[in-house]
Amino acid sequence: MRHVEIRPLALERLAPLLEPERRLRLRRLIEQARTLLGGRVVWNISSTAQGGGVAEMLQTLIAYARGAGVDARWLVLRGAPDFFAITKRVHNALHGDGGDGGPLGELEHRRYQDVLDDNLIAIMNEVRAGDIVLLHDPQTAGLARGLAAAGLHVVWRSHIGRDAPNARTEEGWAFLRPYLEHANAFIFSRADYPPPWIDPRCTWIIPPSIDPFITKNVELAPEQVRDILRIAHLCQGHASAKPVQFPRRDGRCETMRHHHGLLVDNVPAPPLEARLVVQVSRWDRLKDMAGVMRAFADHIGELPDDVHLMLAGPEVSGVSDDPEGAQVLAECISAWRALPPAAHARIHLACLAMDDVDENALIVNALQRHACTVVQKSLVEGFGLTVTEAMWKARPVVASAVGGIQDQITDGENGLLVRDPADLDAFAAALRRTVDDAALAARLGGAARERVRDEFLGDRHLIQYLDLFGELLGASAAA
Ligand code: UDP
Repeated sequence: MRHVEIRPLALERLAPLLEPERRLRLRRLIEQARTLLGGRVVWNISSTAQGGGVAEMLQTLIAYARGAGVDARWLVLRGAPDFFAITKRVHNALHGDGGDGGPLGELEHRRYQDVLDDNLIAIMNEVRAGDIVLLHDPQTAGLARGLAAAGLHVVWRSHIGRDAPNARTEEGWAFLRPYLEHANAFIFSRADYPPPWIDPRCTWIIPPSIDPFITKNVELAPEQVRDILRIAHLCQGHASAKPVQFPRRDGRCETMRHHHGLLVDNVPAPPLEARLVVQVSRWDRLKDMAGVMRAFADHIGELPDDVHLMLAGPEVSGVSDDPEGAQVLAECISAWRALPPAAHARIHLACLAMDDVDENALIVNALQRHACTVVQKSLVEGFGLTVTEAMWKARPVVASAVGGIQDQITDGENGLLVRDPADLDAFAAALRRTVDDAALAARLGGAARERVRDEFLGDRHLIQYLDLFGELLGASAAA
């Protein structure tokens, strides 16, 4: 178990983006949070501090909570690969997917509980009765009993789920049920996700949010975007790129390093003037990077010659709680190597270095901004922060109508949805619409940014948290 240090950020910096009434609500939130939470600590426990949406969101929510005077802290579990193989199995199961096909039986329960019991011993030295603890995702559910017994208010938050349950989802929930019965409240990203045995009166629906000011989302001038991509060797360019400075989470300013070899097989990068279709995802089968590649390759003749595809994901050793990454990447690479030359030359696989998360975020930011269209062809998706990030950058997004993506995109208004994520022809047709029709792309992108401003910024998220904490503490005081 380890602490993640988070520098406070003033929530007030969101104010210029908000209309007056919402600004007022934000200021009221700050006062209420201090009064309600007093000396309590709000703990967050997750399984990784980098890579993936949960880590991304905790970074800023905790920073804003601290900036508002709340003592919010973040602990990361310790676990061996066999523990993460089990939790990934549960993760896949909750998405309705067979994953590695392994069992979720007695042995797995024992191993899961052992690892969490070890973590619990360390956590107990830190926490006090009366504190609030937010446990994130299946990796942490087994801590609920011990923490509740120690007098903490335990909230379990699931960042995943599946629209329509199947046998595998039931299996995943059955695994978690004995642990979750000890939690006092639950948070899900969508109303469709909770299993029926979770009491709706203890259930809160809170969709995620993004922060416009972090390195991942901060405004970048087109010239800076091009410099970043050239320095990362993700784009070719004639002129040499100027050095790029970027802000770190801790406030320091850094100069971006040159990267070589981020593109698989060191193939030539796409030309700077090429129009780039981009998907940024972990190498997870459910993100269907391979499906994007197939759809693009099968329809390459219908796409203008200057349109290229880039599939970008983390360097696979960089995401500790995702043991399947290497295998999924290997599958993508062999499918890509087998493509006909014309398709192979216009499709690029990139593994972004994870040794510096701020620099990784800068590169993702530049890729999303450079993209003519951002795609997210997930087969299942809890929420899909990559969609929110691209929408904030006013990109036209083409995405599968699954999970939380449907809560973000209204088809034809602020993005394009593909009903059946397995329908490669429909996906390619939607992609072509954004590529062929610049006016449509601009209209979708503009509306997308407004949608994120209205619904998916941190003030809404923290107000919902505060409502939940108010009820939780009120209920326990009444009891
Ligand atoms: N991400 C990243 N670098 C990468 C790949 C992904 O920073 O190489 C980020 C991405 O920008 C997003 C998060 O990881 O913020 C993924 O969140 P999402 O909700 O889309 O999916 P998850 O990985 O949580 O299933």
